This record gives sequence, structure tokens and C-alpha cells, in this order.
Amino acid sequence: MSIITGSEYLERINKLNSEIWISGEKVNGAVSEHAAFKGVMKSQAELYDLQHREDLKEKMTGLYKGEIIGASYLIPRTKEDLEKRREMIQTWARHTGGLMGRSPDYMNTALAAFVSSAHLLENQANCFPDHLKDFYEFAVSKDLSFTHTFINPQTNRSTLHYLNEDTTNARVVQRIEEGIVIKGAKLLATQGGMTDEIIVFSAPGIQDPSHAFAFSIPSNTEGLKFVCRKSLIHDYSNYNSPLSSRFEEMDSMVIFDNVLVPWDRVFFYDNIKTANDFYKLGNFIPFNLHQIVCRQVIKTEFILGIAKLIVDTININEFQHVQSKVTEIIKGLESTKALLSAAETQAEVNEHEVLLPARMPLYVAVNQFQDYYPRFTEIIQLLGASGMINLPDENQFNSPIGPKLNHYMQGFEVEGKDRVQLFQLAFDLCMSSFGSRQTLYERFFFGDPVRLAQMIYQTYDLDQAASFVNNKFTKKADLF
Ligand SMILES: Cc1cc2nc3c(=O)[nH]c(=O)nc-3n(C[C@H](O)[C@H](O)[C@H](O)COP(=O)(O)OP(=O)(O)OC[C@H]3O[C@@H](n4cnc5c(N)ncnc54)[C@H](O)[C@@H]3O)c2cc1C
Repeated sequence: MSIITGSEYLERINKLNSEIWISGEKVNGAVSEHAAFKGVMKSQAELYDLQHREDLKEKMTGLYKGEIIGASYLIPRTKEDLEKRREMIQTWARHTGGLMGRSPDYMNTALAAFVSSAHLLENQANCFPDHLKDFYEFAVSKDLSFTHTFINPQTNRSTLHYLNEDTTNARVVQRIEEGIVIKGAKLLATQGGMTDEIIVFSAPGIQDPSHAFAFSIPSNTEGLKFVCRKSLIHDYSNYNSPLSSRFEEMDSMVIFDNVLVPWDRVFFYDNIKTANDFYKLGNFIPFNLHQIVCRQVIKTEFILGIAKLIVDTININEFQHVQSKVTEIIKGLESTKALLSAAETQAEVNEHEVLLPARMPLYVAVNQFQDYYPRFTEIIQLLGASGMINLPDENQFNSPIGPKLNHYMQGFEVEGKDRVQLFQLAFDLCMSSFGSRQTLYERFFFGDPVRLAQMIYQTYDLDQAASFVNNKFTKKADLF
């Protein structure tokens, strides 16, 4: 059986002893016990354990070549497969309120997408489809966890950036007998250092062939460094910081200090066309957009639940603007669900017998969510008002002043301590540094909203709409 338990995951990552830098220090010892990682790694471990729960096993796993594997690695071939994917993704998302954008299904889905697009590497220069296929088998057999990094550092975003000397971007500096050598940096890897491997892939738009590559290497590969941002965990009390203490995924810059990538881990290199085609024509976009929208539905349900509890707890149900604000979240939820459903209904089997969810409804859902999500958090602030900030910590409630607080901070039919607990949750979601990062994440993690909208514009069948008008209502029609 190739599904790991939570403790196997933790043990494996700790053993790697990868090079992780945080607050000016290299992490020494078990990363899962480091203050910046222990909460989220425990949550990740819980996700792996769900794969073993008797009541969920069927949903969370599937058969591949006679072996039980994590369902997130499976390539969908039928509508039932796609439904199973949705249920698996949403089961994991429910465990985290949808707050862990990089639960293992995100990158397992990406790997399934890559391997099911391996034909795009066939007979292309410097491309190794068999390496990718072998790697998929290996990853599935070990239930490997992944982080990834696609984008180059934010050094110079001008369209003419390539005219300046490149001193930061990760690039191939040597092609030697053992493999390719990478030097430079990539912008960001969420969960960097807390996974078995890192998949490195060049985002489209690169100009220099030495930037065009895809590979996977263990997180402890020599010369590979994860340089973390500051931690957003305020404290480890489940009462005071219920979300950040459990789901702070950490982001890191990835530095490649002459990292040797052995040939059997190189999927392609020095090939700009393939880097673009593999991203645009491969299955990464439809598969991962589907994963994302499944999670975003659950995250919206979570926010709706918080909104409803705030309304009840301070008894503001009767006010019309309160009802319309909650309705905004309902509209967001229902339209995201409808787009997800449309993508599944319109899914089509391609020539390689892979069922691809329809891209357009998913693109629209994700691009809408980039606007919805910040608005949802604003709505929570507008409903919660001073309750969002008048938040004594747990120690205050356990101190001699506690009984008075419990009385004076009571809500509608709720004791003070319980009312404040709800608002701590809302604060952590919408106002803490963890909460702000969640908003930035939903805005950007799959690409900048402006360029995503551009992508929709450029790929939508606008001619059909134009010819409808031309055929019936303009000078071109017989009407005139
Ligand atoms: C919390 C978080 C987690 C992330 N995790 C990961 C991860 O795990 N792995 C990974 O690979 N990436 C990750 N990302 C990166 C994410 O993919 C990028 O943030 C996203 O693609 C936007 O790129 P950028 O941040 O470099 O913004 P930039 O491209 O630098 O954009 C900055 C501003 O300039 C504008 N701009 C720049 N270029 C153009 C242009 N050509 N046309 C129009 N406007 C332009 C943008 O609209 C934006 O307003 C993460 C991002 C965030 C915020």
C-alpha cells in the first residue's frame, strides 16, 4: 500500500534535514518541531491520516496498477473519476476550512496533470517524457509530498527586462555528464522545506533558453536553500489564534547554489517552446483549476458559516443591509459552485483518454474569486465591527477578571468567552497578518488577476457573440 500516515510524513521530512533559513538562522533538528512549522505540519499530517480513516478510505484513495494510492494522484478518465476527485479535494479542504492552499492534493494533481501531458515532450529537443513517467511512478509509490516554484524573482518586470543583465533568475549554467546545474533563484515556494521534493518549472513568457526547464529534486539536494519570510504565527493558543496556529503554510524564496539535477530528474531543459506549450497546452491548467475551485467552494462555505455565527451572536439578523451582505457571500458561493458544476458537465475526453474539466468556467471562477475573497473578508469586518478587535486573550478569561469579562462581553444567548472565541476566529481569518496573507494568496497564487482576465478575454469565443449580433441586428443582417 502506498499511502503514508501523518507520522510517516513527519518522520520523512525531519530526516531530510533540508536547508531552511528563518529569522537569520538555519533550522537545526526536526523541522516539524520548529515554532514556524509545527502547527501546519501537524495539520498536514492530519490530512495524510484521513487517507487511512475507515469511513473515508474509499473516497481518499484509489487503485493504480493494483496498489492503493492517494486519489489526488489519479488521472481522471470518466465523469465518476472527476466527481471522486472533487469529493477527495473537498474532504481535505473541509479539514482546514479551505485555508491550506497547498494541501497535498494541489501538487499531486499537478503531477498527474504533467504525466498525462507527457506526449507534449515526445520527440522534442532536450525533452525526456520517460523521466517524467518514471518519476510519477516513483512519487505515487512513496506518496511523496511536493512544493513547487514556477516564477522568477520580482527583480524587473518590465517587458524589456531581458535587455538588462540577468543576475537573479534560476538558470542552467552547466550541462554535464551527471545532469544540469542550476544557479539563481525562484520567487516563491509555499510550504518550501516541509515537503519531500520540489518541482521546479518555468512559467511561460521566458526569453532565455537557459531559463526553460522542468525537474523535481528532493528538498535536501545539495545547494538548495529555502529562505523563509517571517512567521505569521502570533501564538500557539487555539483560542487566541485558531487558524494561524494550524494553517500558516510559510512561503520561501528558493535559491539554487549550483544545484546538480541528475538527468533522470530532468523533464526538459533549454527549450522555450516546450516550456510554453507544456504549461498552456498541457493538463496543468484544467486539472489544477478544478482542484482550486473545489477548495474555494469549501473556503466560501467556511466564511459563510462565520458570517452567520456573527449575525446570530450579536443578533443583527433583522437589518436589511446585514442580510444583503450575507447574501453577497451566498451569491459568491452559489456561482462558484455552479461554475464548478459547469466545468464538470462540460468536461471532455481528449485524444489521450484523459477527461479534462472545461477550462473557461474554471478560469472565470478563479478570476471572480480574486475579487470575491477580499470582499468576503471586508463583509466579515463590516458585520463584526468592534467585535473584531475587542478581543481579550484566553489568559484574561482565566484570570480573576475573567468572570466579569464573561458577563460584560456576552453576546446574544452566548457567554463572553464563547462570543470572543468566535471573533478571534473571524479576526484570524480577516485581520491578522495570517488573514492578510490569505487574501493576498487568493488574489495572486495562480497568477495576477489582470493577466488572468486577459487570458479569459483572449481565449473566449468572442466571435460567436459578434456574429450573433451581426447576423441578426446590424447592417450585415437582412433586416436592413
Ligand atoms: C501568498 C502567495 C503564495 C504563492 N505561492 C507560490 C508557490 O508556491 N509557487 C510559485 O511558483 N509561486 C507562488 N506564488 C507566486 C504567484 O504565482 C505570483 O504572485 C503571481 O504569478 C504574480 O506574480 P508576481 O507576484 O511576481 O507579481 P508581478 O508579476 O511582479 O506583478 C506586480 C504588479 O505588476 C503588474 N504587472 C507585472 N507584469 C505585468 C504585465 N506583463 N502585464 C500587466 N501587469 C503586469 C501586476 O498586475 C501587479 O499589479 C505565490 C504568491 C503569493 C502571493
